[in-house]
Amino acid sequence: MERDTEYDCTLREYGFDTKCQLFDKTLADQWGALSFPIYQSATFAHRGLGESTGFDYTRMQNPTRQQLESVVAGLENGTDALAYASGMAAVANVMELFSPGDHIIVDEDLYGGSVRLFNEISRKNGLEITTACLCRENVTSYIKDNTKAIYLETPTNPMMNVTDIKKLSEDISGRGILLIVDNTFLTPYFQNPLDLGADIVIHSGTKFLGGHHDTIGGFVVVKDKELDDRLRLLYKTIGAGLSPFDSWLILRGIRTLSVRLDRAEDNAKKLAAYLKGKDIVTKVIYPGLSDHPGYEIMKKQARGFGAMITFEVMSAEIARSILNNVELIYFAESLGGTETLITYPITQTHAEVPADLLAKNGITDRVLRLSVGIEGIDDLISELERVFEIAGKNMPLN
Ligand code: PLP
Repeated sequence: MERDTEYDCTLREYGFDTKCQLFDKTLADQWGALSFPIYQSATFAHRGLGESTGFDYTRMQNPTRQQLESVVAGLENGTDALAYASGMAAVANVMELFSPGDHIIVDEDLYGGSVRLFNEISRKNGLEITTACLCRENVTSYIKDNTKAIYLETPTNPMMNVTDIKKLSEDISGRGILLIVDNTFLTPYFQNPLDLGADIVIHSGTKFLGGHHDTIGGFVVVKDKELDDRLRLLYKTIGAGLSPFDSWLILRGIRTLSVRLDRAEDNAKKLAAYLKGKDIVTKVIYPGLSDHPGYEIMKKQARGFGAMITFEVMSAEIARSILNNVELIYFAESLGGTETLITYPITQTHAEVPADLLAKNGITDRVLRLSVGIEGIDDLISELERVFEIAGKNMPLN
């Protein structure tokens, strides 16, 4: 089906907060529902030969999913967004753009699932993968004749490294190399990689876009027609599209994206400042702190610093004590919901990352990651105060 980009263009005339509220009313329903209907149908009847409604079969297109895709494309200033059953399905589909023998440069610090995909599946499929620290190293020295893409997150999960997207895109321009940016941590509310020269934006929609820890989803956003056509072919062939119900949940989550993120970021700034003052905490990594090496780049390329904080404590015992004693804060994987989560990357999100890479990135058994939610800040600080006190009592700090 030829996708109608008129609706996307209309979306772009509005400000961000308004774009989060929109859907195509012509595709809604005859009763004027304010919540876009969930079109829970696997297939769609044709009025006659060659008379498709534009929707044939849900693996290929679905009205609820298409609404979500239009909204996400609009928020990322792309021409199309593809909604997948998970963030990893989105990453895996993007990797299908490449052929055996192609060379991909990937950032050193990435979500553990992406590292596993590159190491276990992309390599098996004949791709040559080089790992580099994109925030520090000169990437051009890694480029070869067969280099087809550079893949990064900024800030990275979990070590919050920041890469200058615009500079990187300028450094590789004209060489036919796709710049792929996973924008999960900042969301389009804070950062638009396509505007900074990226070719493909990826999201785990499970996180801030969904925003309520109640669904799994992923997105790929592009602004180039040829790339979009290649991705749509993979999309309908592989069949990892997001279900209508999950599409609806993320569509609903996006309606409050900006207000949730404003509050979560405000909490994160206060928590980062609080953590900086604690003896039990040996390092606080939050790109909104002026001593973060990426602080100036963040101010230039993003409109906010996000709600993710990584911190290091004095010992592994203290880290474990904190995890065992949290009550208000959940000890859980994932991020981006309204509740604050604490994650232990070494046994959870990054459990399968090779030991040498973990060591190189500083992901030790003393490192914890907070996804800051929208609870009252005083309650979050009291909670941390309480668990730090327990950890300090059990393990004297001297
Ligand atoms: N990208 C980042 C930065 C992530 O943190 C995650 C998951 O934590 C993913 C991608 C994968 O997303 P999903 O869990 O929705 O498959």
